[in-house]
Amino acid sequence: MSVITRFPPSPTGFMHIGNARTALFNYLYARKRGGQFLIRIEDTDRERYSEEAVEVILDGLSWLGLEYDNTPESQFANKDRHIAVAHELLEQGKAYKCYCTAEELDEMRAEAKEQGRPVAYDGTWRDKEDEDAPDLPYVVRIKSPETGTARIEDKVQGVVEIENDHIDDFVLLRSDGTPTYMLAVVVDDHDMEVSHVIRGDDHLNNTFRQNVIYDAMGWDQPEYAHLPLIHGPDGKKFSKRHGAVGVEEFQKLGYLPEALCNYLLRLGWAHGDEEIIDRARALEIFDFTGIQKSPANFDYDKLESLNCHYMQIADDGRLVDLTIPFFDFDIDEDAKVRLEKAMPELKERNKTLVGLAEEAKFLVSDITDYSEKAQKQLNKTSKPVLTALKEKLQDLDDFEANTIETCARTLADEVTDGKLGKVMMPFRAALTGTDKSPSLFMASEILGRDEVVHRIQKAVEFIQ
Ligand code: GLU
Repeated sequence: MSVITRFPPSPTGFMHIGNARTALFNYLYARKRGGQFLIRIEDTDRERYSEEAVEVILDGLSWLGLEYDNTPESQFANKDRHIAVAHELLEQGKAYKCYCTAEELDEMRAEAKEQGRPVAYDGTWRDKEDEDAPDLPYVVRIKSPETGTARIEDKVQGVVEIENDHIDDFVLLRSDGTPTYMLAVVVDDHDMEVSHVIRGDDHLNNTFRQNVIYDAMGWDQPEYAHLPLIHGPDGKKFSKRHGAVGVEEFQKLGYLPEALCNYLLRLGWAHGDEEIIDRARALEIFDFTGIQKSPANFDYDKLESLNCHYMQIADDGRLVDLTIPFFDFDIDEDAKVRLEKAMPELKERNKTLVGLAEEAKFLVSDITDYSEKAQKQLNKTSKPVLTALKEKLQDLDDFEANTIETCARTLADEVTDGKLGKVMMPFRAALTGTDKSPSLFMASEILGRDEVVHRIQKAVEFIQ
């Protein structure tokens, strides 16, 4: 059997991290088995539909590196086919028209609640003949089996069974003739020849109902894998209250997609004690075994430490490209070269691209102001030190990290009692406008003599 998986998001304008993990698992499972990974946009809610919301999802998938096969399917576009299937079931006597009014349904619900019955609809129209039909709006309901047991052999949850009398005669077509989600999903999954439905375990109840449609149509049920949900760090439903929850937000916080994918893979799935699992390795070892049955709690710190790892091994040129969007100004080719030269040190020092961009700013743009801490370093005591440093640097034969270092050390011996910090702290303030930076010797070499001298001069003037 060839493997076809699918990711069917509703375009809500945002891609929850739980959906991203579902997409990742579907992708890995299909790719590992040489199968296909398909996308279906569940866009039947036309009031909420927007093209931008679809873009958010496709952009998210592309950023995560989850390439899909074929053009994304639109559920809305398949509407006529969904309706046709409902009519086929009607003709075969496997579905029926129900004319109950809203009031009648409310009464049934109240009664069921009172009697503690799991199913509200009482089957009023299930066995009525057509001649009894009033000239009123109706919904189409499926005839669910009334006795026996429904069984799912889930790849994650194992065997799950419920009594069929817990499954109601649910609606396939609403009174306005539109198909329900329950019907649309089954028809689409069947038509797309989906072999494996891998989704959150919040859909497990739907699965029992969806199987009623598969059986009524005589279609093969797909294999199922229901994944435990991702919870917040406190074990509660993962929401904005906990911090970032959308893929786009993690991107904006400066995480690398490979770090997020590695983290999501490990969240609720394990392969021995392997922590670092890149895409190639994931494609080798991913399987349903290893998925835990209970929900996993999101841990921002773990994600950050994985991000550190992936930043350190990332290619410098690629990191330059990824860092540029984090500057709130444009940078030219020369600035890019400076950034790349400093990258080996910058990527060791930072946990995210946001931090990296912040630290790299002085290398790619002018200093426009001094932070409060930097200002403290620019004072009457440091002024002669900076002036002397400037003169020494001007006279240097080779403007290189090691000669600049020697120069600073000599100056410390001469004017600050050998205390290098007393030279370096004002130097850092002058060069970077801050109190934290990568190596000033390396940075000076990258910035070049003219710029370094100019910045020291500016700082001296600032003191006056
Ligand atoms: N649109 C549904 C969701 O986002 C898809 C559920 C499914 O996988 O069938 O939850």
